[in-house]
Amino acid sequence: MSEPRLLAGSPIAAEIRAGLTTDFAAFKVKWGYSPTLAIVLVGADAPSAVYLQQILRTCQKVGVQGRLLEIGSHAEADDVCNEIERLNADSAVAGIIVQMPLPAHIPLRTVINAIDPAKDIDGIHPRNAGLLSLGYDGFLPATAQASVEILKRSGIEIAGKRVVVIGRSNVVGKPAALLLMREDGTVSVLHSKTKDLAHHTRDAEILVVAAGKPGLVTGEMLSPGVVVVDVGINVVDDGEGGKKLVGDVDFASASAVAGAITPVPGGVGPLTNALLLSHLLQAATAQAQSQADAAR
Ligand code: NAD
Repeated sequence: MSEPRLLAGSPIAAEIRAGLTTDFAAFKVKWGYSPTLAIVLVGADAPSAVYLQQILRTCQKVGVQGRLLEIGSHAEADDVCNEIERLNADSAVAGIIVQMPLPAHIPLRTVINAIDPAKDIDGIHPRNAGLLSLGYDGFLPATAQASVEILKRSGIEIAGKRVVVIGRSNVVGKPAALLLMREDGTVSVLHSKTKDLAHHTRDAEILVVAAGKPGLVTGEMLSPGVVVVDVGINVVDDGEGGKKLVGDVDFASASAVAGAITPVPGGVGPLTNALLLSHLLQAATAQAQSQADAAR
């Protein structure tokens, strides 16, 4: 079989960032400040650290402020919510993201509910999640959106295709499945309790993998020509005493069968960050406008 088409997210992300750089500069001229993206990190987690550094770099590239708020892993839910309340009240902060996973003793639901839905640029608040499930406009979870955008912007038809999503988390798998349905795909969702994963993956014309398990999907689980979107970001040993990033798909064996495939790194990840910052622009504009209206 010939080499698959490589669906690179980086050039698409660069294009989006170029537009955002212009738009954020225009925002500053119009409103007199650059909006801030606040990232709340509770405790330390290796994949989170990689992800956060990438977001902060993207902030720099488009000319917005990235503010990392690190909270110790022994903090209680109330401490985290109080910090979020402060960010909600801070008019310079246009968007707030809370890095997952939270330490086990902090209830996710309590923290998510504390975020002002108007600043919830990664679409995790029940209000935004509800809007997505009903098909209305709201902030979309950026990773899920990126997994669909990479297909659309690469000219891959989704309508009518058999689309299989592995993973049903609220942040990636479930919203990705909803968005793929919105694009008229015929969507199946697989998860950790699914029996005989390969039986389902072999039926896929488009396969989106978001399980957080390196090497979960191999070439023998795929049908020839399938389009593979690998959302996974896993930090593993590189065999030479260092670390490297890999997805959930065994790239070498999958590439021998797939028609198109996203790389890790350089696939969904860069696009996620660019989309997140486009949500920040949207949030900042709406907030600046409503403050101006209120002051009239
Ligand atoms: P999660 O742990 O919350 O959810 C994993 C999902 O995969 C669950 O629904 C689970 O049922 C399913 N799953 C786990 N093992 C499975 C198996 N053996 N077979 C079938 N299904 C299985 O993870 P998440 O937050 O949804 O993240 C998924 C992956 O995406 C992770 O690797 C994460 O690092 C990555 N991620 C990437 C980006 C990005 O920008 N590219 C952003 C966020 C998360």
